[in-house]
Amino acid sequence: MHIVLISTPIGFLGSGKGGGVELTLKSLVIGLLAKGHKVDIVAPKNSKLLESSKKIKLHFVAGKEQKSWQHQDYYSLVSIPDNSLLSGMVEKAISLGEKADIILNFSYDWLPIWMTLNINIPIAHLISMGSESFVIRNLISNVYSKYPYNFAFHSKIQASDYPFIENPIIVGNGFKLSNYIFQSSKNGPLGWVGRVAPEKGLEDAAYVANALGEKLNVWGIVQDESYALKIEKLFSPGILEWKGFLETDKLQKELGTCRALINTPKWNEAYGNVVVEALACGVPVVAYRRGGPSEIIEHGKTGYLAKPDDKESLLGYLKIINQIDRKCCREWVENNASSNIFASKVVNWLNTVIKENQS
Ligand code: UDP
Repeated sequence: MHIVLISTPIGFLGSGKGGGVELTLKSLVIGLLAKGHKVDIVAPKNSKLLESSKKIKLHFVAGKEQKSWQHQDYYSLVSIPDNSLLSGMVEKAISLGEKADIILNFSYDWLPIWMTLNINIPIAHLISMGSESFVIRNLISNVYSKYPYNFAFHSKIQASDYPFIENPIIVGNGFKLSNYIFQSSKNGPLGWVGRVAPEKGLEDAAYVANALGEKLNVWGIVQDESYALKIEKLFSPGILEWKGFLETDKLQKELGTCRALINTPKWNEAYGNVVVEALACGVPVVAYRRGGPSEIIEHGKTGYLAKPDDKESLLGYLKIINQIDRKCCREWVENNASSNIFASKVVNWLNTVIKENQS
């Protein structure tokens, strides 16, 4: 298959601003290449991919970025700036798509989804968030009624934000396992990984670390400075250990030393890449029973699922975290979330989209 991928227009690949979509796209490309597919990737300028092959081509687009939908009001209107990066990316993808079998869109935005109705090339959409915009939700509903196979989701619980979708196509997610080294020690520190932004609920993890009298290692891009400052003021100095945004190789080395990852999203997390990355290193996860993590973590086997927003429940589970066998964590990822498994599910889905769009 020859596939044109539209990356996220929120930050270049490697910036961290695009969140999990950046790694998801890279893992998928690895899986697609291993299966012999050809991939064109349309991405913001300065984007970086670690893989190189004659079968991948990165096409750069420059332009004005837009605000991510989870940081806008749910009822905001869609606005497209002059010299829009997203419009440029969509235009480029359509011109490349003329010679390809399908366009696969990773951007959670109005324009590429609306294009499904207006061009002859099939466009499949891997939806990366729960319902974060009224206009986009309704557009998905509208397009879905004509193209019911063109949408896929990372988890069932994410798809439940779009209740008009019957039998949603769920592709999970995947990771290049050789990038993550298993670490067996159970005596390490506490960790938290994610974009530092309100929907990620860092304050609850900091509360738990504080109650245990320990510091919390925080890895990730500070997307909302005022939110980060607000949390810092809530706790005694030294509780939050800001580790910054690291590339996967360095991140996994440091994360693998942790005795637990605390994962505390306040929104319907579509999947939760960081949960699986921790498990891949053997690190059990304590998370709220909400969003993607509630489908990933096996309660009592690879971590614990606490009552949503109940910090005491999180605390209770952290006290017994060493009962988890770290090998089970790694095994879960090997059996469920390799880039090969993920690419197979995506390829099956794309074949269905191509077939159904022809008929
Ligand atoms: N991440 C990273 N370096 C860091 C912290 C985070 O590369 O120091 C990446 C991590 O690998 C993951 C992404 O940031 O792929 C966060 O994705 P997740 O699905 O957990 O949440 P999202 O940001 O998409 O809401």
